Amino acid sequence: MRKSAEIFQEASKLMVGGGCAGGRIHAALGTPFYIDHADGSHVFHVDGEEFIDYHCGAGALLFGWNHPRIREAIIKCVDKGFFMNFDSPATLEFARLFKELVPTVEKIRLTNSGTEATLAAIRAARAYTKKNLIIKMDGHFHGMHEMIWFNGGCGSDLDKYGQTRSVTPATPGFPAGAEKNVKLIEFNNLDAVKHVFETYRGDIAAIIMEPVNYDCGCVPSTREYMKQVRELCTKEGILLIFDEVISGLRFRPGSAQGYYGIKPDLSTFAKAIANGFSLALVGGKAEIMELFNPTGPVICSGTSSGNLMSVMAAIECLKMAMEPGFYDQVEKIEKNLCGELNALFGKHGIPGHIRSQGAQFAFYFGYDDPQMDYILSETVKHYHPQLYRRFTRECLAEHLYVFDGGEKPFPQHNGFTIAHTEDDIALTISKVD
Ligand code: PLP
Repeated sequence: MRKSAEIFQEASKLMVGGGCAGGRIHAALGTPFYIDHADGSHVFHVDGEEFIDYHCGAGALLFGWNHPRIREAIIKCVDKGFFMNFDSPATLEFARLFKELVPTVEKIRLTNSGTEATLAAIRAARAYTKKNLIIKMDGHFHGMHEMIWFNGGCGSDLDKYGQTRSVTPATPGFPAGAEKNVKLIEFNNLDAVKHVFETYRGDIAAIIMEPVNYDCGCVPSTREYMKQVRELCTKEGILLIFDEVISGLRFRPGSAQGYYGIKPDLSTFAKAIANGFSLALVGGKAEIMELFNPTGPVICSGTSSGNLMSVMAAIECLKMAMEPGFYDQVEKIEKNLCGELNALFGKHGIPGHIRSQGAQFAFYFGYDDPQMDYILSETVKHYHPQLYRRFTRECLAEHLYVFDGGEKPFPQHNGFTIAHTEDDIALTISKVD
């Protein structure tokens, strides 16, 4: 029996589905993808096989596995006693670097996960505006909590994508009526924003969005849309929250908000800011942030929030991202990898294309009109999930780990890191070819 099968058999007795998340079951294997160790751009399966990793920690990795500078930071942290539940000079250093990188974040509060960060942002928005409604974009994901997990991301009610504007909890178990606090609109549709602002004038606390909707593939927005949304929010006294949990650190200057030139009132970050270590944050205008305890009444804290290990890892990540040439390297890899992958659709006469931004990319099987990606309801009409699943199985057989995603009716985001080498890319292209 293969080691992975043995682990699955035993783990299934003790852990739901033999692992930590339903989304980790790989369709081709029927089990989680059990990994022994990882290094650079490669993961090493417990059965002894080596894969080039294009899932990259669900968007958490930008610097590669086992990065020497992050590793060194962790060793230093071990020497310090790897404590949590205390703040330290490292927390201050992190905050200073972060503000330098993302100037709209006048003050921050650290959390452990993106889920906690969006929860805190929404809580602060309601407390600040003393209003209740949150406007959410269809198909955007902001974590698995009852404040906002409706019609978006990670295994939620898939049949409804792009077909309805009704607000549906993503999972059973929500308190009755939770959906009444959220209104749903289509991303990149300015009329929808105007309409919802007008209809619920006086009741809206905030509008939240991923500036690039990675949870439905790689769906960017336009500068004009962002600018108009910002202006409307300011005019109406509605807070603009950017969820940069994935986009954070992936764009220059200073994440997607810098790239689009938009100043959100609050933003959330996680994943790449610590290259996958458990660190997230909510940040924004000091006036709003000071509502958090102890300066204000809004509670946001956690036992291991801002734990030293994650903070020390994150300091190295921020420093690396600030070094000259870092984003040139990211863009070079993106051009080589995604450009060549894209050309393979044409070469083989397969309808489809690759869309990439910020070291993330998605395979759009089924159609080749990149404009269509802007509106999710159009994408789901033309996207071909079965073909994508067949593709991910073939990739696995070729030792390329591409995220499977379970036949969702829209593309899945994959990614690369600065550890992906020219050899990795050449090998990947020849295998996909
Ligand atoms: N926001 C976005 C845009 C995400 O993609 C995710 C996770 O994938 C979250 C929030 C939740 O973050 P976490 O998984 O760290 O709780």
